[in-house]
Amino acid sequence: MDTKDVVIVGGGVVGSVLAAGLLAKTPFNVTLIDAHDPADASPAPGFDNRVIALSRRTVNELAALGIDLAPASPEPIKHIQVTDKGAAGLCELTAEDYRVPAFGQVVSLSALGELLPSFLDNPRFTHVAPDTVSTLTQHQDKVSLALTSGGEVSADLCILADGGRSGLSEQAGFTREQSPYGQSAIICNVQTSEPHSGNAFERFTEQGPLAFLPYQADFGDQTVKGHGFSVVWTVASEQLDELMTLSDSRFIDALQQAFGYRQGRIMEVGPRDAYPLILNTTRELITHRCVVVGNSAQTLHPIAGQGFNLGLRDVTGLINSVMEAEDPGLYRVLDRYRHCREGDRRATVKLTDTLVRTFSNRYFPLQAGRNLGLLTLDLLPALSQEFVRLTTGYGRQTERGSVVNG
Ligand SMILES: Cc1cc2nc3c(=O)[nH]c(=O)nc-3n(C[C@H](O)[C@H](O)[C@H](O)COP(=O)(O)OP(=O)(O)OC[C@H]3O[C@@H](n4cnc5c(N)ncnc54)[C@H](O)[C@@H]3O)c2cc1C
Repeated sequence: MDTKDVVIVGGGVVGSVLAAGLLAKTPFNVTLIDAHDPADASPAPGFDNRVIALSRRTVNELAALGIDLAPASPEPIKHIQVTDKGAAGLCELTAEDYRVPAFGQVVSLSALGELLPSFLDNPRFTHVAPDTVSTLTQHQDKVSLALTSGGEVSADLCILADGGRSGLSEQAGFTREQSPYGQSAIICNVQTSEPHSGNAFERFTEQGPLAFLPYQADFGDQTVKGHGFSVVWTVASEQLDELMTLSDSRFIDALQQAFGYRQGRIMEVGPRDAYPLILNTTRELITHRCVVVGNSAQTLHPIAGQGFNLGLRDVTGLINSVMEAEDPGLYRVLDRYRHCREGDRRATVKLTDTLVRTFSNRYFPLQAGRNLGLLTLDLLPALSQEFVRLTTGYGRQTERGSVVNG
């Protein structure tokens, strides 16, 4: 029997990990098409300056795919503190209390990106880059893709991991719901006078949620190991220009005022980048011989750090669904994927969206309500257990389609 062909459009973190996983766990030929030129020294858009928190489950699932994070120097999250600026609500969670060594690990996308090429070194792998897909056509027994360079690729299954902005999913019959939040995320790395000691913070400020994740960036001669944080600050889009154009010292002042002094003084700040925030989801997960995964299926607000964690569950769910299949593009195979992913995806999108809409509102009763919510979380072990299950990736809704079999 012929070896079946799978094509992945988009070589960001989700497409690349999926390619590595399919090569490791299935007999299929895998072609990965990406717009970025590998010879270009500037960072690929999918592996830019972002630093992301990986849940325990994500770390375990990457290990099950053979991807060991150790060379990317991940920083463990041992303690989480959630606070609301100017109010009493405070929730503190410590990994030890839950008998886990850490809630998750913090890693830079660029370090993760450097690990992946070695997992793609396989005779069944073809990398087409830089190139983009101009037209996608679904036939009964295959999908063909016309490339901008003039070439053509056809496969039994086409997986869209293109981040959802290329218009390709619409060509494949997916429909989208898009809801801009009117907010942007500013990311940067900082160093504080007090050591991070594995602490992560989520603080709800009048500008929007502010997250500090333990992560050591390189500040040259000023680097003090163990004192670094990666910052994600959500602000209203109309405040963005002002904050992005402040001098470093004025920006440190604004950040210090929003975050407070629980880590002492902010001593250093690195370059800032900004991301407009939008909820962008497809209504369908599969169409004829096509699948969407990662940000292409759902682009979330970063408030709960769920984007890649959820995207990786798409990856493992898809690998589990196709690994035994003679033809990975058959409807019954893809329907298995749809079935195992729908509940988790719906719950995670809803949780994230509810958090944004609750914590971005300055209306007093809502503020009082969310403070009570945070207090309750700290006081009621059953509730905080549920919160931990969500942050570690082992929530009630996420148990289906777990670590890749075999
Ligand atoms: C500020 C911020 C903080 C975040 N923090 C966290 C966190 O703490 N934890 C977490 O889990 N997630 C987090 N996320 C989300 C996470 O970064 C994303 O979910 C993840 O990087 C998405 O990867 P992806 O591969 O699906 O999409 P993308 O990174 O968008 O990759 C898409 C790829 O497709 C390529 N492409 C696009 N169109 C075409 C085409 N037509 N042809 C060929 N190639 C194409 C692009 O070049 C790109 O390489 C955060 C996001 C932001 C913005």
